[in-house]
Parts: sequence; C-alpha cells; structure tokens
Amino acid sequence: MGDEQLQRQDTSTVTAQGGAEAIENLVIVGSGPAGYTAAIYAARANLSPLLVTGFQDGGIPGGQLMTTTHVENFPGFPDGILGPDLMDRCKAQALRWGTRLLEADAEAIDLSQRPFRIRAEGRTIRAQAVILATGASANRLQLPNEERYWSRGISACAICDGATPQFRNEELAVVGGGDSACEEAVYLTKYGSHVHLIVRGAQLRASAAMADRVLANPAITVHWRSQVADAGGDDQWMSAITLKDTVDGSTRELPVRGLFYAIGHTPNTRLVKDQLQLNSAGYLITQPGRPETSIEGVYAAGDVADAEWRQGITAAGSGCQAALAAERWLSHHNLAVAVRRDQLEPTAVGEPKRTAISDEANFDPSTLWQKGGYALRKLYHDSPNPLLVVYTSPTCGPCHVLKPQLKRVLEELGGRAQGVEIDIEADQEIAVQAGVTGTPMVQLFCRKELKQQWKGVKQRSEFRQAIEELLAVTA
Ligand code: NDP
Repeated sequence: MGDEQLQRQDTSTVTAQGGAEAIENLVIVGSGPAGYTAAIYAARANLSPLLVTGFQDGGIPGGQLMTTTHVENFPGFPDGILGPDLMDRCKAQALRWGTRLLEADAEAIDLSQRPFRIRAEGRTIRAQAVILATGASANRLQLPNEERYWSRGISACAICDGATPQFRNEELAVVGGGDSACEEAVYLTKYGSHVHLIVRGAQLRASAAMADRVLANPAITVHWRSQVADAGGDDQWMSAITLKDTVDGSTRELPVRGLFYAIGHTPNTRLVKDQLQLNSAGYLITQPGRPETSIEGVYAAGDVADAEWRQGITAAGSGCQAALAAERWLSHHNLAVAVRRDQLEPTAVGEPKRTAISDEANFDPSTLWQKGGYALRKLYHDSPNPLLVVYTSPTCGPCHVLKPQLKRVLEELGGRAQGVEIDIEADQEIAVQAGVTGTPMVQLFCRKELKQQWKGVKQRSEFRQAIEELLAVTA
C-alpha cells in the first residue's frame, strides 16, 4: 500500500453528539494474555492503546486463563499462579502504563475502510491500527438434553462450578482428553466421590505430566473410546449420562451428577470472517511466525491465530510481536499521535488487596462491600437497603470479572445499596440454603425478600437497573 494513501489526513471525527472524538492509534480487541501484553508494549510506546476487553461474546474478559486453576508453566512464577490472578496482574500492568479499557463486547469490526471501524457499546471507534486478540471459545457437545440440564448438572467450567453443593461427594464426569480435561478431572476429585474421564479415542492428548497425574489417580476412571450421547435425570437435576462405545456402537448408562465439558475451543473470528484470510478451522492466517494478517495495519495475537501452541506464554509473546509490529507500521506511515503519560514513572500497583471477612469486631453496617456469613446475616436482617449477594468460589475466573462490576454499581449508587460476597467453599451451608448451582450467582434482597437472581456474568446495567427499580418502589 502506498504511503500517501495511509498518511493521517485528520486526527478527529465529529461524533453524533457534535463532540470531537479522536481517531485511536491502536485498538486491541481481546483481554487474554495476548491482548494485555500487546497493551503493555503499546502503552509504553506512548500509543495510548484502547483495549476492548470483550464481555460475554467469546468467553469472559481475561480469556481462557480465567477458567484455569494453577498455571505452573508461565515463567516468573516458580510456585505457579492461579489463572485469574495472573490475568489480574496483566490487567493491572497494562493499566499502570496507560492503557484505556472499554469493558464491552466488540459488536462489529469494519476493516474495509481506513481508519478501521470498531463498534462497541453503541459507539463507533475509529482506529489507525487494530490488534485482534479475541482468543477462542469453549466448545459444547450439543447433546439432546443439554439445554435442559445446563447449570443443572452440565457445566463448561469445572473450575467455576466444581465447588457447588450439588457436586459434593457425588460421581462426576469430565469429557475430553486434553490438558483441560485432565486438569479438571484432577481438580474435581477435591469435591466429587469419584471422577470419570470420558475419552473418545484410545489415548490422552494431554501433556505427559498431566496425563500421568490422571492415570495414577485412583479417584479417576478413564473410559476409553467412549462418547457422551445424552444426559438424563429428573426436572431438578441430571443424574446419569449415556455413553456410546465408539468401536461397536453399544450404549450404557453411567450414573453421575455432574458432566463437565473440556473438548477444546473454536477461534473467535466471527466478526472478521469475511474480511481477513482464515484457515479451514476458522483461525486467522498470518505470515509464518509473524503477526501481520491479510490486511495491512491489522495484526493477530494469541489463540485466534494459533491452533498449535495455544499457551499463555506463546499468546503473550505474540501480543508483544503484534504491538511492536503495529508501532513500527504506525510510525513508518506517520499515523500515530504520541500520547505522553502524565507520570514518567507510573505509581507501582503493589499486591492486590483482599476484602477481609467481616466478624463481630470489624463489621460496619455502612460499608459498601463486605465478605462472609456474618455480614450477610446482619445486613439481611437489619438493613433497609437493597442487598446484593454474590456467591463465588476461590478459583472462579468469572467471579473475578463480576465482582468489580458489582462494586462499581454500588459505588455509583452512593451507598443506597450494599453488597456481600459469600465464598461457597467457606460457607457451604449458606450456599445450600441459597440453592447455588454454579458460580458466580447473584441474589438481590430487600427487607428479607429475594427480589431477583442472576447466574453467570451479566452486564453492570442489569444489576443497576434492578436496584434502581427497587429503590424507586421502596422510596
Ligand atoms: P485440546 O484441543 O487440546 O483437547 C480437546 C480434547 O477434547 C481432545 O482430547 C479431543 O479429543 C476432545 N474432543 C474434542 N471434541 C470432542 C467431542 N465432540 N467429543 C468428545 N471429545 C472431544 O483442548 P484443551 O482445552 O484441553 O487444551 C487447549 C490448549 O490449552 C492445549 O494446547 C493445552 O496444552 C493448553 N492447556 C494447558 C494447560 C496447562 O498447561 N495447565 C491447562 C489447560 C489447557 P481427541 O484427542 O480425540 O481429538
């Protein structure tokens, strides 16, 4: 492409409201290790990148590591680190260097004109360069009874849902033969009485260390050459799965109360599939070993362009490459507007702060956000305010995503509503009473009455609207 075609013509565009909205140097779509690494590099290069984190489309912000427990192979953490903690740190590092976050899904991407257009949260963002780091989404089996038993026995995230009361001391099944399946099978032995690993072939695809751990575990039975054909049970909960032998086609029932999917991922390329070159499996095609896609100024990073390595560290490495390539390209074409950071040396982030569990000594009836059964009982009985209760489990990535959203809603409401976090592992009885079937789950109470309930990660606006409606009625 000729330089003259790319030269920056104007640096701003007029928005529908009449205000001037700058053209972004670089928009990064996706917030896994690839997206955040790209953001760290681009922010340090004074590009002031805008990172569209994604929200519900294609998984959760933070990507697949948000549904992983111990990451033991990411350099720099000799004792391992929890996936969600690693992503919290990546995010904090990107923010520290001046990345701006848009916590929303990218709804459309138009690469047919320059600057490129990205639609998110109802507005159109214009960008000189784009890095696609949208990752891949968990696959489902599409069983005949899948919808019926979704969150009533069937789950796509053992790490999020394994600790729920319904799975305790029950027989559970995991389907898949990769690292995820093996990791989840081992993890579920903490909760279930026995775990069945359903493998469609005759061998595990997982790394040798992971496979050995599974095969040596007496609490796990591997069912080779078996496919899950369907799930059955009553109106309340799944109680068995039907297994089909992939060799002779025979079927048999396996009584289990939980079925966890770990059958791989599909790349999130829907928004660009007719605009960029993809391979037959839907992955973005880049130049070998490089981040450039088939359109100049558009780069790929992480699993969206990597069907082979798919590791946190390779995603991070490719995010670095994409940011460096974008920076070079932008400066070569004189398209970037350098944005100087206010502080040459930004303030250190430090260690993440954890909310202390409330007890008789430290409970404060006016605190916006507290933790534990004591605070729940006190606020439930004594507070006239709407009360948001979020049920979490320690390793649940989606819980990490949801909690700051809820806290923000409460802050925006200026103390007219309060929140309590219940760790379902620490407060099992409360989880049973509340009927928790997976985490995160949120309940909204007012004056001892349950008003509304949500399962999974939802938009902030949903919670805010529900609370505001309650406040309007009770005013
Ligand atoms: P993989 O693609 O590696 O494995 C998917 C598994 O699901 C395969 O065993 C596959 O069977 C099976 N499968 C796919 N479709 C079906 C189906 N319809 N019915 C039954 N079984 C099916 O995905 P993972 O999520 O396990 O791993 C993705 C990447 O992430 C890998 O590179 C892995 O190494 C990495 N990872 C690393 C971890 C760690 O290091 N801690 C943890 C988790 C993942 P088949 O083998 O027959 O094709």
